[in-house]
Amino acid sequence: MALPCRSHISTFWNLPMEMVETKTLIIGAGPAGISAAIELAHLGEEFIIIEKGGIGGLALNAFRVKNYPGIPSITGRELALLFKSHLRQAGIKVTKDEALKVRYQDGSLITTAKRRCYVSKFLILATGTSPKIPNIEISKSAAKQISYEIKGLLSLANKEVAVIGGGDVAFDYALSLAKKNAVHIFFRSNRPRCNPWLIGEARKMGVTLVGNANIKKIFKEGKKVFVELDGKTKAVDRVVIAVGRYPLLDVIDKDMYSTGAGPDIHGLYIIGDAARGEGSKRQIGMAVGDGICAALDIYYKGLHGA
Ligand SMILES: Cc1cc2nc3c(=O)[nH]c(=O)nc-3n(C[C@H](O)[C@H](O)[C@H](O)COP(=O)(O)OP(=O)(O)OC[C@H]3O[C@@H](n4cnc5c(N)ncnc54)[C@H](O)[C@@H]3O)c2cc1C
Repeated sequence: MALPCRSHISTFWNLPMEMVETKTLIIGAGPAGISAAIELAHLGEEFIIIEKGGIGGLALNAFRVKNYPGIPSITGRELALLFKSHLRQAGIKVTKDEALKVRYQDGSLITTAKRRCYVSKFLILATGTSPKIPNIEISKSAAKQISYEIKGLLSLANKEVAVIGGGDVAFDYALSLAKKNAVHIFFRSNRPRCNPWLIGEARKMGVTLVGNANIKKIFKEGKKVFVELDGKTKAVDRVVIAVGRYPLLDVIDKDMYSTGAGPDIHGLYIIGDAARGEGSKRQIGMAVGDGICAALDIYYKGLHGA
Protein backbone atom coordinates (compact mmCIF):
# COMPACT_ATOMS: atom_id res chain seq x y z
CA MET A 1 0.00 0.00 0.00
CA ALA A 2 1.38 3.43 -0.90
CA LEU A 3 1.38 5.43 2.30
CA PRO A 4 -0.47 8.75 2.35
CA CYS A 5 2.17 11.44 2.59
CA ARG A 6 0.44 14.76 1.94
CA SER A 7 -0.39 16.27 5.28
CA HIS A 8 -0.86 19.83 6.54
CA ILE A 9 -2.67 21.75 9.27
CA SER A 10 -6.28 22.96 8.87
CA THR A 11 -8.79 24.32 11.39
CA PHE A 12 -12.07 22.94 12.70
CA TRP A 13 -14.05 24.90 15.28
CA ASN A 14 -11.03 27.23 15.18
CA LEU A 15 -8.76 24.46 16.50
CA PRO A 16 -5.74 23.42 14.46
CA MET A 17 -6.31 19.99 12.93
CA GLU A 18 -4.03 17.85 10.83
CA MET A 19 -5.37 17.51 7.30
CA VAL A 20 -4.35 14.38 5.39
CA GLU A 21 -4.89 13.80 1.70
CA THR A 22 -5.41 10.34 0.29
CA LYS A 23 -7.01 8.93 -2.83
CA THR A 24 -9.52 6.79 -0.90
CA LEU A 25 -10.71 6.94 2.68
CA ILE A 26 -12.44 3.90 4.16
CA ILE A 27 -14.57 4.50 7.26
CA GLY A 28 -15.13 1.34 9.32
CA ALA A 29 -13.05 -1.82 9.78
CA GLY A 30 -15.81 -4.43 9.84
CA PRO A 31 -15.87 -7.15 7.15
CA ALA A 32 -16.90 -4.63 4.43
CA GLY A 33 -14.21 -2.01 5.11
CA ILE A 34 -11.52 -4.65 5.70
CA SER A 35 -12.30 -6.35 2.37
CA ALA A 36 -12.17 -3.03 0.53
CA ALA A 37 -8.79 -2.30 2.17
CA ILE A 38 -7.33 -5.71 1.30
CA GLU A 39 -8.46 -5.42 -2.32
CA LEU A 40 -7.16 -1.83 -2.67
CA ALA A 41 -3.80 -2.89 -1.21
CA HIS A 42 -3.68 -5.83 -3.62
CA LEU A 43 -4.25 -3.39 -6.50
CA GLY A 44 -1.46 -1.07 -5.27
CA GLU A 45 -3.91 1.75 -4.49
CA GLU A 46 -3.37 4.54 -1.98
CA PHE A 47 -5.89 4.64 0.88
CA ILE A 48 -6.43 5.13 4.59
CA ILE A 49 -8.80 3.03 6.71
CA ILE A 50 -10.12 4.41 10.00
CA GLU A 51 -12.03 2.62 12.77
CA LYS A 52 -13.54 3.98 15.98
CA GLY A 53 -13.86 0.63 17.82
CA GLY A 54 -12.53 -2.89 17.40
CA ILE A 55 -11.34 -4.45 14.14
CA GLY A 56 -13.99 -6.94 12.97
CA GLY A 57 -17.07 -4.78 13.56
CA LEU A 58 -20.37 -6.41 14.41
CA ALA A 59 -19.00 -9.85 13.54
CA LEU A 60 -17.13 -9.74 16.88
CA ASN A 61 -20.50 -10.56 18.50
CA ALA A 62 -21.22 -13.71 16.49
CA PHE A 63 -21.61 -16.93 18.47
CA ARG A 64 -20.64 -19.16 15.55
CA VAL A 65 -20.28 -18.26 11.88
CA LYS A 66 -21.08 -21.27 9.71
CA ASN A 67 -21.78 -19.72 6.32
CA TYR A 68 -18.42 -18.26 5.30
CA PRO A 69 -16.84 -20.30 2.48
CA GLY A 70 -13.66 -22.14 3.40
CA ILE A 71 -14.28 -21.86 7.15
CA PRO A 72 -16.93 -24.41 8.18
CA SER A 73 -17.36 -23.10 11.72
CA ILE A 74 -15.71 -20.25 13.62
CA THR A 75 -16.62 -17.81 16.39
CA GLY A 76 -16.90 -14.12 15.53
CA ARG A 77 -13.85 -13.35 17.68
CA GLU A 78 -11.73 -16.00 15.95
CA LEU A 79 -12.81 -14.67 12.55
CA ALA A 80 -11.84 -11.14 13.60
CA LEU A 81 -8.38 -12.46 14.56
CA LEU A 82 -8.03 -13.94 11.06
CA PHE A 83 -9.07 -10.56 9.59
CA LYS A 84 -6.41 -8.82 11.71
CA SER A 85 -3.75 -11.26 10.65
CA HIS A 86 -4.71 -10.84 6.98
CA LEU A 87 -4.50 -7.04 7.33
CA ARG A 88 -1.07 -7.35 8.94
CA GLN A 89 0.19 -9.66 6.19
CA ALA A 90 -1.06 -7.21 3.56
CA GLY A 91 0.82 -4.37 5.32
CA ILE A 92 -2.39 -2.48 6.17
CA LYS A 93 -2.53 -0.33 9.28
CA VAL A 94 -5.97 0.57 10.62
CA THR A 95 -5.96 4.12 12.01
CA LYS A 96 -7.89 4.67 15.24
CA ASP A 97 -10.23 7.58 14.53
CA GLU A 98 -13.94 8.35 14.43
CA ALA A 99 -15.48 10.13 11.46
CA LEU A 100 -17.87 12.88 12.54
CA LYS A 101 -19.01 14.56 9.33
CA VAL A 102 -18.40 14.26 5.60
CA ARG A 103 -18.88 17.08 3.14
CA TYR A 104 -18.32 17.47 -0.58
CA GLN A 105 -16.28 20.46 -1.70
CA ASP A 106 -14.59 21.31 -5.02
CA GLY A 107 -14.53 17.70 -6.23
CA SER A 108 -13.18 16.28 -2.96
CA LEU A 109 -14.77 14.48 -0.05
CA ILE A 110 -13.73 16.08 3.22
CA THR A 111 -14.13 13.93 6.31
CA THR A 112 -13.78 15.60 9.66
CA ALA A 113 -12.87 13.02 12.27
CA LYS A 114 -11.97 13.26 15.95
CA ARG A 115 -8.22 13.23 15.38
CA ARG A 116 -7.69 14.43 11.83
CA CYS A 117 -9.36 15.80 8.75
CA TYR A 118 -9.16 13.60 5.63
CA VAL A 119 -9.43 14.86 2.06
CA SER A 120 -10.10 12.14 -0.50
CA LYS A 121 -11.31 11.65 -4.04
CA PHE A 122 -13.20 8.50 -3.06
CA LEU A 123 -14.90 7.58 0.18
CA ILE A 124 -15.96 4.09 1.17
CA LEU A 125 -18.51 4.27 3.95
CA ALA A 126 -18.57 0.90 5.73
CA THR A 127 -20.03 2.05 9.03
CA GLY A 128 -22.47 -0.84 9.57
CA THR A 129 -25.60 -0.46 11.65
CA SER A 130 -26.94 0.90 14.90
CA PRO A 131 -29.35 -0.94 17.22
CA LYS A 132 -33.05 -0.06 17.20
CA ILE A 133 -34.34 1.16 20.51
CA PRO A 134 -37.70 -0.51 21.23
CA ASN A 135 -40.79 1.29 22.39
CA ILE A 136 -40.45 0.09 26.00
CA GLU A 137 -40.46 2.30 29.07
CA ILE A 138 -36.97 1.96 30.54
CA SER A 139 -36.13 3.56 33.88
CA LYS A 140 -32.91 5.56 34.09
CA SER A 141 -31.40 3.30 36.75
CA ALA A 142 -32.17 0.13 34.73
CA ALA A 143 -30.51 1.55 31.61
CA LYS A 144 -27.03 0.80 32.99
CA GLN A 145 -27.82 -2.94 33.03
CA ILE A 146 -29.13 -3.01 29.46
CA SER A 147 -26.92 -3.75 26.43
CA TYR A 148 -27.51 -3.80 22.68
CA GLU A 149 -24.41 -5.85 21.78
CA ILE A 150 -22.64 -8.56 23.73
CA LYS A 151 -18.98 -8.21 22.83
CA GLY A 152 -18.41 -6.54 26.21
CA LEU A 153 -20.40 -9.19 28.13
CA LEU A 154 -18.52 -12.33 27.21
CA SER A 155 -16.99 -12.70 30.68
CA LEU A 156 -20.42 -12.49 32.38
CA ALA A 157 -20.99 -15.67 34.45
CA ASN A 158 -23.54 -17.17 36.85
CA LYS A 159 -26.12 -14.47 36.13
CA GLU A 160 -29.69 -14.47 34.94
CA VAL A 161 -30.07 -12.68 31.60
CA ALA A 162 -33.15 -11.63 29.62
CA VAL A 163 -32.67 -11.30 25.86
CA ILE A 164 -35.43 -9.36 24.10
CA GLY A 165 -36.00 -10.14 20.41
CA GLY A 166 -36.95 -13.11 18.24
CA GLY A 167 -34.57 -12.86 15.29
CA ASP A 168 -31.18 -14.38 14.46
CA VAL A 169 -29.22 -11.75 16.37
CA ALA A 170 -31.25 -12.18 19.59
CA PHE A 171 -30.84 -15.97 19.45
CA ASP A 172 -27.15 -15.66 18.62
CA TYR A 173 -26.63 -13.38 21.66
CA ALA A 174 -28.60 -15.82 23.83
CA LEU A 175 -26.35 -18.71 22.78
CA SER A 176 -23.15 -16.81 23.57
CA LEU A 177 -24.46 -15.87 27.02
CA ALA A 178 -25.99 -19.28 27.79
CA LYS A 179 -22.54 -20.89 28.02
CA LYS A 180 -22.10 -19.41 31.51
CA ASN A 181 -25.49 -17.93 32.48
CA ALA A 182 -29.21 -18.73 32.74
CA VAL A 183 -30.80 -17.08 29.71
CA HIS A 184 -34.46 -16.31 28.94
CA ILE A 185 -35.40 -15.06 25.50
CA PHE A 186 -38.57 -12.98 25.07
CA PHE A 187 -40.17 -12.41 21.66
CA ARG A 188 -43.45 -10.80 20.59
CA SER A 189 -44.80 -13.39 18.14
CA ASN A 190 -45.85 -16.93 19.02
CA ARG A 191 -42.83 -18.36 17.15
CA PRO A 192 -39.33 -16.91 16.80
CA ARG A 193 -38.44 -15.74 13.29
CA CYS A 194 -34.93 -17.02 12.93
CA ASN A 195 -32.69 -19.74 11.61
CA PRO A 196 -34.02 -23.09 12.95
CA TRP A 197 -30.46 -24.16 13.80
CA LEU A 198 -30.29 -21.32 16.33
CA ILE A 199 -33.59 -22.37 17.92
CA GLY A 200 -32.39 -25.98 18.20
CA GLU A 201 -29.09 -24.89 19.80
CA ALA A 202 -30.92 -22.58 22.22
CA ARG A 203 -33.13 -25.47 23.36
CA LYS A 204 -30.11 -27.76 23.75
CA MET A 205 -28.33 -25.15 25.86
CA GLY A 206 -31.31 -24.73 28.18
CA VAL A 207 -32.37 -21.24 27.07
CA THR A 208 -35.99 -20.53 28.11
CA LEU A 209 -38.11 -19.39 25.15
CA VAL A 210 -40.99 -17.04 26.02
CA GLY A 211 -43.29 -16.21 23.09
CA ASN A 212 -46.20 -13.71 22.90
CA ALA A 213 -44.17 -11.50 25.23
CA ASN A 214 -45.40 -7.95 25.10
CA ILE A 215 -42.81 -6.16 27.23
CA LYS A 216 -44.06 -2.85 28.56
CA LYS A 217 -41.48 -1.72 31.05
CA ILE A 218 -37.98 -2.40 32.38
CA PHE A 219 -37.11 -1.03 35.81
CA LYS A 220 -34.62 -1.62 38.59
CA GLU A 221 -35.12 -2.49 42.26
CA GLY A 222 -32.13 -3.27 44.45
CA LYS A 223 -29.53 -5.02 42.30
CA LYS A 224 -32.07 -6.68 39.98
CA VAL A 225 -33.65 -5.44 36.78
CA PHE A 226 -37.33 -6.29 36.27
CA VAL A 227 -38.84 -7.02 32.88
CA GLU A 228 -42.59 -6.36 33.01
CA LEU A 229 -44.88 -8.12 30.57
CA ASP A 230 -48.67 -8.21 30.71
CA GLY A 231 -48.96 -7.95 34.48
CA LYS A 232 -46.09 -10.35 35.27
CA THR A 233 -42.49 -9.45 36.04
CA LYS A 234 -39.25 -11.35 35.63
CA ALA A 235 -36.23 -10.39 37.73
CA VAL A 236 -32.83 -10.68 36.02
CA ASP A 237 -29.29 -9.35 36.42
CA ARG A 238 -28.88 -8.11 32.88
CA VAL A 239 -31.02 -7.34 29.82
CA VAL A 240 -29.85 -7.55 26.21
CA ILE A 241 -32.06 -5.97 23.56
CA ALA A 242 -31.87 -7.12 19.92
CA VAL A 243 -35.00 -5.97 18.10
CA GLY A 244 -33.38 -4.94 14.83
CA ARG A 245 -30.74 -2.61 13.48
CA TYR A 246 -30.76 0.24 10.97
CA PRO A 247 -28.00 1.55 8.67
CA LEU A 248 -25.60 3.94 10.39
CA LEU A 249 -25.23 6.82 7.94
CA ASP A 250 -25.18 9.79 10.30
CA VAL A 251 -21.83 11.14 9.03
CA ILE A 252 -23.28 12.02 5.63
CA ASP A 253 -26.17 14.28 4.69
CA LYS A 254 -29.20 12.69 3.04
CA ASP A 255 -28.69 14.61 -0.22
CA MET A 256 -25.29 12.95 -0.71
CA TYR A 257 -26.61 9.48 -1.43
CA SER A 258 -29.46 7.53 -2.93
CA THR A 259 -29.97 3.97 -1.69
CA GLY A 260 -28.40 0.57 -2.16
CA ALA A 261 -24.84 -0.69 -2.41
CA GLY A 262 -22.42 0.30 -5.14
CA PRO A 263 -21.10 3.52 -6.60
CA ASP A 264 -23.00 6.64 -5.65
CA ILE A 265 -22.62 10.35 -6.30
CA HIS A 266 -19.41 12.28 -5.63
CA GLY A 267 -17.13 9.17 -5.45
CA LEU A 268 -19.06 7.95 -2.42
CA TYR A 269 -19.56 4.22 -1.92
CA ILE A 270 -21.89 2.96 0.80
CA ILE A 271 -21.21 -0.71 1.40
CA GLY A 272 -21.93 -3.65 3.68
CA ASP A 273 -24.66 -3.48 6.32
CA ALA A 274 -24.72 0.32 6.01
CA ALA A 275 -26.11 -0.12 2.49
CA ARG A 276 -28.88 -2.50 3.50
CA GLY A 277 -32.06 -0.95 4.84
CA GLU A 278 -34.43 -2.20 7.49
CA GLY A 279 -35.67 -5.74 7.02
CA SER A 280 -32.83 -6.58 4.61
CA LYS A 281 -30.66 -9.63 4.98
CA ARG A 282 -27.20 -8.68 6.24
CA GLN A 283 -24.33 -11.13 6.23
CA ILE A 284 -20.54 -11.13 6.34
CA GLY A 285 -20.20 -12.60 2.83
CA MET A 286 -22.40 -9.83 1.40
CA ALA A 287 -20.32 -7.15 3.14
CA VAL A 288 -17.10 -8.72 1.86
CA GLY A 289 -18.46 -8.76 -1.72
CA ASP A 290 -19.42 -5.09 -1.48
CA GLY A 291 -15.93 -4.17 -0.24
CA ILE A 292 -14.22 -5.93 -3.14
CA CYS A 293 -16.64 -4.38 -5.67
CA ALA A 294 -16.05 -0.85 -4.40
CA ALA A 295 -12.26 -1.30 -4.48
CA LEU A 296 -12.29 -2.71 -8.03
CA ASP A 297 -14.56 0.10 -9.20
CA ILE A 298 -12.20 2.74 -7.80
CA TYR A 299 -9.21 1.03 -9.41
CA TYR A 300 -10.85 0.79 -12.86
CA LYS A 301 -12.09 4.40 -12.65
CA GLY A 302 -8.43 5.40 -12.14
CA LEU A 303 -7.34 3.35 -15.17
CA HIS A 304 -9.93 5.11 -17.31
CA GLY A 305 -8.94 8.50 -15.95
CA ALA A 306 -12.24 9.19 -14.13
C1 LIG B 1 -24.90 -11.66 16.91
C2 LIG B 1 -24.59 -11.62 15.45
C3 LIG B 1 -24.29 -12.79 14.78
C4 LIG B 1 -24.01 -12.77 13.42
N1 LIG B 1 -23.73 -13.95 12.80
C5 LIG B 1 -23.44 -13.95 11.49
C6 LIG B 1 -23.14 -15.18 10.83
O1 LIG B 1 -23.13 -16.26 11.43
N2 LIG B 1 -22.87 -15.13 9.49
C7 LIG B 1 -22.88 -13.95 8.79
O2 LIG B 1 -22.60 -13.98 7.59
N3 LIG B 1 -23.18 -12.78 9.40
C8 LIG B 1 -23.46 -12.75 10.72
N4 LIG B 1 -23.77 -11.57 11.34
C9 LIG B 1 -23.85 -10.32 10.53
C10 LIG B 1 -22.46 -9.70 10.31
O3 LIG B 1 -21.81 -9.53 11.54
C11 LIG B 1 -22.61 -8.37 9.58
O4 LIG B 1 -23.38 -8.56 8.41
C12 LIG B 1 -21.25 -7.80 9.21
O5 LIG B 1 -20.44 -7.63 10.35
C13 LIG B 1 -21.42 -6.47 8.47
O6 LIG B 1 -20.17 -5.96 8.16
P1 LIG B 1 -19.95 -4.38 7.89
O7 LIG B 1 -18.48 -4.22 7.71
O8 LIG B 1 -20.87 -3.93 6.83
O9 LIG B 1 -20.44 -3.64 9.23
P2 LIG B 1 -19.94 -3.81 10.72
O10 LIG B 1 -19.44 -5.17 10.97
O11 LIG B 1 -21.04 -3.29 11.56
O12 LIG B 1 -18.68 -2.82 10.82
C14 LIG B 1 -18.82 -1.43 10.80
C15 LIG B 1 -17.61 -0.82 11.48
O13 LIG B 1 -17.61 0.59 11.28
C16 LIG B 1 -17.19 1.23 12.47
N5 LIG B 1 -17.71 2.60 12.47
C17 LIG B 1 -19.02 2.98 12.50
N6 LIG B 1 -19.11 4.33 12.45
C18 LIG B 1 -17.85 4.80 12.41
C19 LIG B 1 -17.30 6.12 12.37
N7 LIG B 1 -18.09 7.21 12.37
N8 LIG B 1 -15.96 6.27 12.34
C20 LIG B 1 -15.15 5.16 12.36
N9 LIG B 1 -15.61 3.89 12.41
C21 LIG B 1 -16.94 3.71 12.42
C22 LIG B 1 -17.80 0.36 13.57
O14 LIG B 1 -17.13 0.56 14.80
C23 LIG B 1 -17.62 -1.04 13.00
O15 LIG B 1 -16.40 -1.62 13.39
C24 LIG B 1 -24.03 -11.54 12.70
C25 LIG B 1 -24.34 -10.36 13.38
C26 LIG B 1 -24.61 -10.39 14.74
C27 LIG B 1 -24.94 -9.12 15.47
